[in-house]
Amino acid sequence: MDRDHRSLVLPHGRVAVPAFLPDATYGTVRTVDSQDLEGAGVQAVEMNVFHLMQRPGSTVIRSLGGLHRAFSWERPILTDSGGFQAYSLIRQNPRRGSITDRGIVFRPEGTARKVILTPEKSIQLQMSYGGDVVVCLDDCTHADAPYETQQEAVRRTILWARRCRETFDALMANRAEDGPRPLILGVIQGGNERDLRRQCAEALLEIGFDGYGLGGWPLDSAGNLLTDIIGFIRELVPAEYPMHALGVGHPDHVLTCARMGYTTFDSSLPTRDARRGRLAIMKAEGDAQVPLGTDWWQYLYIQDERHRRDGRPLSESCDCHTCRHYSRAYLHHLFRVEDGLYDRLATIHNLRFMTRLMARIRAEGGPHGG
Ligand SMILES: [Zn+2]
Repeated sequence: MDRDHRSLVLPHGRVAVPAFLPDATYGTVRTVDSQDLEGAGVQAVEMNVFHLMQRPGSTVIRSLGGLHRAFSWERPILTDSGGFQAYSLIRQNPRRGSITDRGIVFRPEGTARKVILTPEKSIQLQMSYGGDVVVCLDDCTHADAPYETQQEAVRRTILWARRCRETFDALMANRAEDGPRPLILGVIQGGNERDLRRQCAEALLEIGFDGYGLGGWPLDSAGNLLTDIIGFIRELVPAEYPMHALGVGHPDHVLTCARMGYTTFDSSLPTRDARRGRLAIMKAEGDAQVPLGTDWWQYLYIQDERHRRDGRPLSESCDCHTCRHYSRAYLHHLFRVEDGLYDRLATIHNLRFMTRLMARIRAEGGPHGG
């Protein structure tokens, strides 16, 4: 981070933190384009090596000049290592692959061919794609997994982090461009076991990274944020380092984690919610917005019959393209006739909700807060 700890200085620009990064899993935030994203105030997006190496494929991305040019996005990109997705695939169906110290071998759905993702390859791909923030390959676990499993995942995560760092350093030594360099994040694993989380954080701090990631599932099986362990992990890392909360995207969870000192977030939740008709609205009392805390926002379910003749925007206080031009009734109608325009307008609104939330949290932190 820069000296005031309030922004990340990256090859494709500066990101004021805390910031929310929508997931552009396959190189696109579904249904919206780069102009829509910029219009909604999105500073950076997350893309995933696991998906991109399959489609459109690394050769295509490199021949088009990297992710920014391939997908016409000029602002920063955080590239995730693919560890979580490979782990999820194997967890769902162990016959789809295996994890060893060498790396992760998996068979993508719908194919018979095997793909290997090693720590070295993950970093090489992320760097060749032009990622602004690259993430170490980690051995992910579920929070409920037994201690021995967590212990093994931490051992492997540390082993891989060292190899990721070496690969990153070798690539940086040959880098010709001037200006800000990409950042590399180490990911802290260990499930709910505090001693393992501490062990993992200490080992990663010793290797030395530009920032750190909250690894593993951030939610319990009931969907509640694992607040205690997440706060504990933040405190294991000195405050001057940025920390990325992978997969945290529910507005209440983002607020809680940002107040704990997490700096960036990525999730597909707000955009998925939008497509399913769940639109986030900040609550107001008269002309003023309800202060961030409890009961400060709500979902509006656009398919509800009561929106059929409602000429008001989704939110009187929202300045997004959708709220400035379209009514609840029109969005309700578009949703009912399943027009693709609904998805775009709804996605723009939910992303603007998140970027306005982040701006409010940044203002709460004050010029020297955080
Ligand atoms: Zn709006």
